[in-house]
Amino acid sequence: MGIPIDGKSHAKALREETTARLATARSASNDPAPTLAVVLVDPDDASEVYLRQKMSAARAIGIEVRVDRLAATIEPATFSAHLRSLSQDPGIDGVLLEMPLPHNLSREEALLAIGPDKDVDGLHPTNLGALLRGSPTILPATAAAVIQLLEREKVPLRGAHAVVIGRSAVVGVPTALLLLQRDATVEVCHSKTGDLAASLADADLIVAAAGVPNLVRGSMVCEGAVVIDVGMNRVGESLVGDVAYAEVLAKASKVTPVPGGVGPMTVACLLATVVELSLRRRSTGGDDPWHQPRS
Ligand code: NAP
Repeated sequence: MGIPIDGKSHAKALREETTARLATARSASNDPAPTLAVVLVDPDDASEVYLRQKMSAARAIGIEVRVDRLAATIEPATFSAHLRSLSQDPGIDGVLLEMPLPHNLSREEALLAIGPDKDVDGLHPTNLGALLRGSPTILPATAAAVIQLLEREKVPLRGAHAVVIGRSAVVGVPTALLLLQRDATVEVCHSKTGDLAASLADADLIVAAAGVPNLVRGSMVCEGAVVIDVGMNRVGESLVGDVAYAEVLAKASKVTPVPGGVGPMTVACLLATVVELSLRRRSTGGDDPWHQPRS
């Protein structure tokens, strides 16, 4: 029988470290509080609940939050211009664009409109490129959360056989790259993988990020494996992961629950990134190399 990984308490520890880091920096410099701009397009009740949780965690750390709610009818050009103006605002340290977007708005365009130095999500091509080269500056929050949990749980990664289920640019691929950079042997599975069970059979570490409830069953996991469940799936009124939790906990050594595993750590990583971006800008005197006029 394995043990649950307590994402809430690890996230609290990271938030406390971030709070202390910011307080030390501000006591030495008198700088204003970092400011995060959150952009929501056509928010529903669930996104408002998540937003309130993020805002209260941000304020507890000492981060100001500005929220822009935009109508679903916004024109793509106006939307991009809005993101660009937030990104160029010297009073804003990071821009967080909540997903999903309405179909008429392109996620790729939006990512480009937010400059890499304000890219809290770490998904701008410049930041993803740095990750690919092994010198990441800003990490995608969910991939960072997976690594934080593994490191705080002291899970050995060097030489471990890790299987990541999911190859999205937001979660699966960044997680696989970070594991590779920690010397794991990484296999990435996706919807066209022929035999997922065979891939998982001798995995020391499984990261499930497919968005498919109960995809990973107890019978697929080897004794003593560590299982990180990134999935967040609404089933009726409940939030469930990609892992059949009770079955897998019976075989694995450690498993993250949903909720209470990767989710809280993702928010803590996001807020740590806002502080990192703000301290970095202040240490460079507010210089913003991405928004200098082009000659
Ligand atoms: P996504 O863009 O839809 O990607 C899902 C990936 O899973 C794709 O690569 C897909 O393969 C693969 N996949 C789908 N069905 C599969 C199957 N039956 N077997 C193996 N692979 C399969 O989703 P995402 O944005 O990466 O998010 C993945 C999950 O993580 C979702 O549940 C999301 O809600 C959750 N999430 C959680 C957090 C958090 O903080 N906990 C943050 C972000 C996302 P193909 O590429 O072949 O289509």
